[in-house]
Amino acid sequence: MKQLGILFGFLLSISCGSIDRSASKVYIGGEIVNPTSDYLVLFKDDKVIDSAQLDHNNRFKIKFNDLEEGLYHFYHEPEFNYIYLQKGDSLNLRLNTLAFDESLMFSGKGAEVNNFLVELLLQKEEEELQMNSLYDLNPVAFDLEIKSLRDKKLQMLSDLEDEIKLSPKALDIVKASIDYNVYVFKEKYPFFHKINRRTHNHIKLPKDFYSYRKELKLNHKDLYFYSPYYSYMKYQLGNLAFLNCNENCPQPIVQNQIVHFNKHKLIVVDSLDIDKRLKDNLYRNIAIQYYIKSRDSRENIEDFHEAFSKYSAHNIHFNEIEDVYQNILNLQPKREVPSIEIVSYQGIRTDLNQISQNRKVVLYFWSPSYESTFYKIQERVKQLEKNYPEYTFIGISPNDNDYRWRSLVRDSRLNSEYQFYAPQYDIQNRLVIDNPFKSIILQDGFIEDAFANLLTSF
Ligand SMILES: [Zn+2]
Repeated sequence: MKQLGILFGFLLSISCGSIDRSASKVYIGGEIVNPTSDYLVLFKDDKVIDSAQLDHNNRFKIKFNDLEEGLYHFYHEPEFNYIYLQKGDSLNLRLNTLAFDESLMFSGKGAEVNNFLVELLLQKEEEELQMNSLYDLNPVAFDLEIKSLRDKKLQMLSDLEDEIKLSPKALDIVKASIDYNVYVFKEKYPFFHKINRRTHNHIKLPKDFYSYRKELKLNHKDLYFYSPYYSYMKYQLGNLAFLNCNENCPQPIVQNQIVHFNKHKLIVVDSLDIDKRLKDNLYRNIAIQYYIKSRDSRENIEDFHEAFSKYSAHNIHFNEIEDVYQNILNLQPKREVPSIEIVSYQGIRTDLNQISQNRKVVLYFWSPSYESTFYKIQERVKQLEKNYPEYTFIGISPNDNDYRWRSLVRDSRLNSEYQFYAPQYDIQNRLVIDNPFKSIILQDGFIEDAFANLLTSF
């Protein structure tokens, strides 16, 4: 769910946009308990529509004269969720960041459809767990389970329609939400069935197993930023890529390579009959997931990038994808650690490269904005320092030259000699800091592993 948020988060520099507010026809207000930032930012796709600062009671208000009906999302760093807005709505939103999705609740005019979408999302989390055992079933039995799951949701929808009249567009979105959230399990089925059964071969499926694909409307303006659509497409593309490979490539050894498989995904996206913008987003998803998650060799990454550039040279996200690609290349083993300005506790400017010379170093990252994660990270680092005395553990705080950083370093009795902050926000992108436990292992200023994890790599 949140993965897309993290990825799109790369792009976010929160600007408080100027908006025409002459006559208010849509109102959104509410309260954020335990806020993790001072702002709530409203997006349509990847564009900021408006933002509101929380007041001293952690409450906010946003008003619009006029707003196009549709699916929006709001971002309260570092998480996001969806909000469906239509003219005349007067919505009150409440959430507690300790359980962001679970606590999210709407009241007021327009609340029903929003609470319904939240409910679907929460059910999905439970269903994921149930599916783990259902993937064992044969395709026919699995199909029946999915049918009954979908029927239950359609019944929920019909109960909702007894209560309120949904606009055609809202009904369309809710139905799409049901379908993507349910049918993704069928797209996942062959992969997880194979894993559960510990076989190497894809299972033979009945002819009509994917018959719903014909009915699903893939080209939908409101899906441009809808994560259930992307998680559905991710697996459908996986299945189609597999098929495409089986039909065209004779060599099974090459077929198993992750780069080869991802190149087939590009071919499949190219063949889809959808808007360029949606296509660009799918290409972007494939490319960025591959660069960040595959940990593939340099040769393969370059090979993939060449293919990507061929298929999607005019991608609207091309510069962003190119940046991620370059950053990933710069983080390959045996490369020098990138030169990035950092500042010591005493205020002395230096460079990441400088502090890593002549020793074995583990870089880790934390931010004073996320105190609970900070304590988990520090606890883990203390333990690792004991177990691996040959390493110097150095904490870097991206973009935090402030009182809280200094007081946390002081109050937590961290050795200030090994704490720095990076004044340039782009350190997050350049070092691909995509999770709180990310760490980088260096030897004499050269990279050994730029994608290590404090919890799992040691
Ligand atoms: Zn192939």
